[in-house]
Amino acid sequence: MRYISTRGNAPVLAFEEAMLAGLARDGGLYLPESIPRMDAGEIAALAGQSYEETAFQVMRPFIGDSFTDDEFRSIVVRAYRDFRHGARAPLTQLGPGHFLLELFHGPTLAFKDFAMQFIGHLFQATLDRRGERVTIIGATSGDTGSAAIDAFRGLEAVNVFILFPHGRVSEVQRRQMTVHTEENVHALALHGDFDDCQARVKDMFNDFAFRDGVRLAAVNSINWARILAQVVYYFTSAVALGAPHRAIDFTVPTGNFGDIFAGWIAKRMGLPVGRLVIATNQNDILHRTLATGDHVRLGVRPSVSPSMDIQVSSNFERALYFAYGGNTDAVARDMEALATDGGFKVSQGALEALRDAFSSGRADEAETIETIAGQYRATGEVLCPHTAVGVKVAEECLGPNPMVTLATAHPAKFPDVVESAVGHHPPLPPHMANLNSRPERVTEVSNDLSTLKELIWRRIAK
Ligand SMILES: *Cc1c(COP(=O)(O)O)cnc(C)c1O
Repeated sequence: MRYISTRGNAPVLAFEEAMLAGLARDGGLYLPESIPRMDAGEIAALAGQSYEETAFQVMRPFIGDSFTDDEFRSIVVRAYRDFRHGARAPLTQLGPGHFLLELFHGPTLAFKDFAMQFIGHLFQATLDRRGERVTIIGATSGDTGSAAIDAFRGLEAVNVFILFPHGRVSEVQRRQMTVHTEENVHALALHGDFDDCQARVKDMFNDFAFRDGVRLAAVNSINWARILAQVVYYFTSAVALGAPHRAIDFTVPTGNFGDIFAGWIAKRMGLPVGRLVIATNQNDILHRTLATGDHVRLGVRPSVSPSMDIQVSSNFERALYFAYGGNTDAVARDMEALATDGGFKVSQGALEALRDAFSSGRADEAETIETIAGQYRATGEVLCPHTAVGVKVAEECLGPNPMVTLATAHPAKFPDVVESAVGHHPPLPPHMANLNSRPERVTEVSNDLSTLKELIWRRIAK
């Protein structure tokens, strides 16, 4: 299995190299050259299997010979052993035909643990074998950072730097990044918004001298291995609800388009997915793009679902690549226009392909809070605000197929918003109860590339 860049101008890599690189050297994102298919018999055979066994079956064809079967199986098993639910991604039911896929039973209580714990073990296996070290740099709107830090803290071969927008993540999210004592963990509070954090990370990757000097690796959702890990729970949930014998719809609270793109990959692999619904908060560039064809970034407006406060939706580039039928020049041209002019128009043919693949909806602030309150009244279920955006949009899209809404985080990560909706503080799970009393370790940084690079050089020289 070989990996190519969406912009067509970077070396073709094996899985392991694409995973270590993260971003391609032409600024594009890596994608498998072709998408392996599973037939109905193979999908049916997943029924009753453990999460880990399904993960092995679904991901194996993408790995090529980067790992042996035994190595890969043991990586998958280790990746999910710290999850606090035997099913890893259990389903609950909200109403007739509407299910919630609980993706918050990992160590940092958000779906990002599924990919990050997996990638942590992949990195460790690879770097051990090669005797190499890397510097991981990531931008986070809240949950990626804590998931990355939890997955990489204490690893010998890795330094991990996480940039988050100062004052714009919830206190629980911040503490999950700042309470760690391991020397290889560096939490950086940047004066700017999430798009600024993401832009500085991209700048560092595009500075090849720096990139090669510190051996930069990206674990943001641009990293293909993360998307791949997220494909798995579309299979486990769909099979639990009757796939391949019936089609399942999914609604996905979306920011950087990684999670929903994984659903699209699952569909391309042969999983009978009906509708794939994009659910955005008031930062609705994806919803507007599907509605009008204009992909135009406006300023980010901070919302009660901060992990989706994004206007530069990185993985959308991967969907565009397929919508343009693999025309890398068209992708490169649009991405250039996005960087220089703040937007572009999706061509008519590509727009039709996108509308064929995805539906979309949005929830504003009041609707998000009303959905948390309404679900609590109706079912006793306490939703996190991101999940609430999904549930609101999903309810507008219920049809003949079962609908699965992805519950992307635990409500206790967003206690203030949730309390305002349900009237009480959602408790942290017992194993995290001491989070608020642990000392924090964090460095404030300005939104300036050279300051950042200098700080990173200094820290890794130690
Ligand atoms: C990251 C995140 C999202 C958005 O996921 P993308 O893959 O970036 O679209 C939604 N909800 C929560 C809780 C998140 O942490």
